[in-house]
Amino acid sequence: MLDATGKKYSPLIPQDMTDELFWKDGLTPDDERLWVPNGPGRWSRPLCLNVSQGYWVHITKVTKAGVVSRHRHPAPVHGFVIEGKWRYLERDWVATAGSYLYEPPGDVHTLVVDEGDTMKTLFHNTGALLYCDENGKTIGSTDVFDRVKAARNHFEEVGLGTDFVKQFIR
Ligand code: FE
Repeated sequence: MLDATGKKYSPLIPQDMTDELFWKDGLTPDDERLWVPNGPGRWSRPLCLNVSQGYWVHITKVTKAGVVSRHRHPAPVHGFVIEGKWRYLERDWVATAGSYLYEPPGDVHTLVVDEGDTMKTLFHNTGALLYCDENGKTIGSTDVFDRVKAARNHFEEVGLGTDFVKQFIR
């Protein structure tokens, strides 16, 4: 590609570098089938499913009010709210468009979308979500491998093929 003065730039790619990812339609996929269902009124649009480092970056979309999940993480999570509104029952803040959050490893939180609200949030999840009961005891989990599996099954079901998920995997 050319810079403003017309100088040509080419990619400088070291041997063994993994392929980059670039989704021009990251927030609003050209194909609605890219939204992987994740419960009633909940979807996940994968951006990067990193099986070599155990994290996944995705956009969570919630269109139905209610408790999304109560969980904690063994590793850090970063979030950035793109649209809408949501909160954690354990906190007194409300996340709205433009909000950023860091979830420290260990914190138990209950994500809720209130009546009349919806949201889209980018999450960088590391490790896992450990679903918790009222006392913080682990009752289930999801990790990047579960996310790959769910996406693979969904993409296959909607006619995109079993290998479609591979473009998101690093
Ligand atoms: Fe969390």
